[in-house]
Amino acid sequence: MPLRETEAIVLRTYRLGEADKIVSLFTRQLGRLRAVASGAQRTKSRYGGTLEPLSYVRLWVFERENRDLLRLNAVELLESFFAMQKDYRVQVAAQYLAEAADRILPEREVNERAFRLLLAVLRSLKQAGEINRPLLYFNYWLARLGGFLPDLDRCMACGRALGQENGYYGPGSEGLLCADCRVSGANQTVAGATRAMVQRACAAPLERWLTEEKAPAGCREARRFLEEIIETHLERKLVTRPMLEEEV
Ligand SMILES: [Zn+2]
Repeated sequence: MPLRETEAIVLRTYRLGEADKIVSLFTRQLGRLRAVASGAQRTKSRYGGTLEPLSYVRLWVFERENRDLLRLNAVELLESFFAMQKDYRVQVAAQYLAEAADRILPEREVNERAFRLLLAVLRSLKQAGEINRPLLYFNYWLARLGGFLPDLDRCMACGRALGQENGYYGPGSEGLLCADCRVSGANQTVAGATRAMVQRACAAPLERWLTEEKAPAGCREARRFLEEIIETHLERKLVTRPMLEEEV
């Protein structure tokens, strides 16, 4: 049973029996995986607070031949994102990040850029307390790195450049439609100025964007469109998305 060391972000934990937990982790060196943390439900667990959702940790796991679940050996906290979640809006945003990453990232596939993205977005949430820009940035890059970000400048049906016109979408959309190709149910819009803003903002590091005083108009509109794209790609609803709608 080889022991592997890796950095990781804790996505979620589930109870396993009376004493143990299953931990879903996005690791830097081994990709997304699930591991058993023995005794993690006990009050005096050796894991302490390291397995709180979205903790950035260094850990050691045993790989087990022919088994999906690895076994956690030791965990060391590198950076906590626990205190920021006292703010309910930030907590919901953090849960959304964990759910989207848990669903989208393929198991055991190393993805350094996605790892750095998640860490940068968590740090921005912690520092700025604002959620629209970090979530929009996360959605954009998650879709782009996953290869399913649609062309924001063209109608996906006829290919016409949208320019300043509105793009239309609805439940199950994989991209935007022009006014001529718009189908029933495509009742939501993304304005031309919003699409230009997204492409400009997401081309730079998130920290730099956050130095601009406030979130530009259209952030929420763009964020919601990209959430729809992510759900369509997943072919399932995200549990945290309605919570975001209520709170943000
Ligand atoms: Zn069209």
